[in-house]
Amino acid sequence: MKHLPSIPGKILSMALMLLAFAATGSAWSMDLEGSLIQGGMVRGHVAPGTRVEVDGKEIMVGPGGEFVFGLGRDAPVSTIIRTIDPEGNEETRKLSIAPQTYDIERVDGLPPRTVTIPPEEKARRARERGMVGKARGSMSGRLDWQGMFAWPAKGRVSGVYGSQRVLNGKPRTPHYGLDVAAPVNTPVRAPQAGRIVLAQPDFLLEGGIIIIDHGFGIFSTLFHLQSVDVAVGDLVDKGAHIGGVGAKGRASGPHVDWRVNWNNVRLDPLLLVDGLPDQ
Ligand SMILES: [Zn+2]
Repeated sequence: MKHLPSIPGKILSMALMLLAFAATGSAWSMDLEGSLIQGGMVRGHVAPGTRVEVDGKEIMVGPGGEFVFGLGRDAPVSTIIRTIDPEGNEETRKLSIAPQTYDIERVDGLPPRTVTIPPEEKARRARERGMVGKARGSMSGRLDWQGMFAWPAKGRVSGVYGSQRVLNGKPRTPHYGLDVAAPVNTPVRAPQAGRIVLAQPDFLLEGGIIIIDHGFGIFSTLFHLQSVDVAVGDLVDKGAHIGGVGAKGRASGPHVDWRVNWNNVRLDPLLLVDGLPDQ
């Protein structure tokens, strides 16, 4: 939390990436929009009935030909997209993926049991991980992922996607969230419409946690919540109040940690919103 990355610089470099992308999308029987960059979400359209494969794996295509896929934090320099239309015509394209640069982030003052999980908490952690994995492993036909996303809280950006982390002095896995620091009980709002698929008040690492299904394997996850004000099965609009900011779980101060997944691929939420959050 102490080291604040250069966020405006990061946003500028992403804006340039978007332009570069738009210029290459022409003369192709597919529209694409999004960021061809590590952590990016790529949305597109094909003629209805067309099958789409990304790196050899068939992905979900909606009845209107809409589809979405994600690029991981360490996605390789290129991705192959193959389309097969209803007449059997195939088209293959290689997309160049820009690298991101990731900072090292040191976070101190975390509750020790959330950095090195004690043996008596391991079964609990495994159970909670299983619930998160199951929630984000599902697939629905919702189309909420198509719109622009919104910041989940007003506040200050205190952590970004991809940072290599050193927690209480110990090197750990990268950070996959976008953190907004704000006082306890600041309203947390749905970054996008969807259906609540997990709502739990107090997980070991996540504290209060909410997972929202936006469809086609795209999920938002919100962590460290002081209050969880929705239940599994609730349908929420973009901007709906869903909970309150907290410092529960592996947190050194009150903030909301927002993650976006394409099933188990972790995406960069900063690529989905405009500018910085309101203070
Ligand atoms: Zn975080």
